[in-house]
Amino acid sequence: MTRKTVGGKACRCPDTTPESCVQDDEVLTQWAIVNPNDTEDPTFSRQPRPNDYDSAVSLVRGRHEPDEAFKQSVGKYPDTKNRSVVARYTSAREVRGAGLAVVHTPGRISGSLHVSVVHPPEDPLMLQQADWPADTQNRFDNCFTNER
Ligand SMILES: [Zn+2]
Repeated sequence: MTRKTVGGKACRCPDTTPESCVQDDEVLTQWAIVNPNDTEDPTFSRQPRPNDYDSAVSLVRGRHEPDEAFKQSVGKYPDTKNRSVVARYTSAREVRGAGLAVVHTPGRISGSLHVSVVHPPEDPLMLQQADWPADTQNRFDNCFTNER
């Protein structure tokens, strides 16, 4: 299944393209929700969630504390009464090296640091695959192994 929505949220930053706006050296933050009763490790997305409008995995440009990364992505701070947020980090170079596209997708939010990770990488503004192959999911997940 493919949907063509990443292109509609792609940035118009000057002197670059949405696909190359995020520099290879930039740190990217991924956040995940943890419920207080969970005994297992937090589950970070390894592919687009089934109901994601975008068919992309959302990351945030830069290194952010978990609650801040959540706010950058969702638009408000998390309700921490019943859950907490955790984060892990990688770089655009790592993600691109895994065979994925890293696209700056601020949408209509001025200054947004929202980033979409897209498979396949060839034409990410037009084509996004919702179901990633297992080896692609593993390569993406492995981008984060050095820092948690
Ligand atoms: Zn941009």
